Amino acid sequence: MLKRLIVSAVISALILCTGCGKSETTDSSFSRDIFAMDTYMNMKVWAADGDSLLDTAAKRINELENTLSVTKDTSDIAKLNNGGTITLSNDSSLILRTALDIGGQTDGALDISVYPITKAWGFTTGENRIPYEDEIKSLLEKVDFRKITPERNVLSLPDGMQIDLGALAKGYTSDTLMQLFRDSGAESAIVTLGGNVQALGHRPDGTDWKVGIVDPFSPTENLCIIEIADKAVITSGNYERYFEENGKRYHHIIDPADGYPADNGLVSVTVIGDSGLMCDALSTALFVLGEDKAISYYNTHRDFDMVLVTDDKRILYTKGLEGKFTNLSKYAAKVISDE
Ligand code: AMP
Ligand code: MG
Repeated sequence: MLKRLIVSAVISALILCTGCGKSETTDSSFSRDIFAMDTYMNMKVWAADGDSLLDTAAKRINELENTLSVTKDTSDIAKLNNGGTITLSNDSSLILRTALDIGGQTDGALDISVYPITKAWGFTTGENRIPYEDEIKSLLEKVDFRKITPERNVLSLPDGMQIDLGALAKGYTSDTLMQLFRDSGAESAIVTLGGNVQALGHRPDGTDWKVGIVDPFSPTENLCIIEIADKAVITSGNYERYFEENGKRYHHIIDPADGYPADNGLVSVTVIGDSGLMCDALSTALFVLGEDKAISYYNTHRDFDMVLVTDDKRILYTKGLEGKFTNLSKYAAKVISDE
């Protein structure tokens, strides 16, 4: 509950930052708060038929949740996890393909089959515990996204394997909302799904959106602001879901190499790019990879920007953000130098 409150406060901070106040009609915008995918969400769109557009958007979010959720018994993912065979919907097919691609490109840092381990840590149930070493070892035997091989659009999982698309689902959802708003003719919209932000176009006055990135050391405050247009800004952080035992923090992003919360020197990774789905997949994967490997991944791809925050309180950001990045914190912020 406490964490929910923190997340909610952070969202409010983000919303303030992006200029999305409460529902207001003076600037012909329409705003909606909903709770779905275990997350507080806000959507704001500037459109004449904004209210019905937001009804459609909310329906779309529920539809995606019903297909993708691991905890809803009737979802495609739950059916797979219960040993069933499914025909992939367009939505699950696209997410799955991206998950497998990014898993391959990051040497398995992103592995959707890590789910039984996330479950053992209690991150899906809220009943957190430190699993026994043997338990993690035996669960790890079933973790290997390379064994997920859809045939055309039909998929079943190897015996004992279970998957969770939670590392990518919200990014895909915000992509879908942007598409819906764009198709309806809207030119300005912004959505905040948990800590993830995605914007359509510019603000109605033609300026860039200002998006706050949460301070992982003080999650009710913003660490920095970045200016964007038509982009997703997606963060994975160790402050989003965690529990503490004996003074040590155990968070929800699991390193599939050992089954423990990733501890590779980063406390948050924000990825900024055109596709929410890619940004979401990458934010989780780069968090697991750690500073050096995240930077070398960036250097070989360079089709996105990122902000890394390290556990020794350094902020690193890519060149594409120069002039669009404002540091609000007392920590040093540095542009990542070329190779
Ligand atoms: P995100 O907040 O996008 O970084 O996603 C984190 C969520 O993805 C967690 O709550 C888990 O459900 C799931 N997850 C955790 N670790 C991994 C991983 N290494 N690969 C894929 N999914 C993961
Ligand atoms: Mg992610």
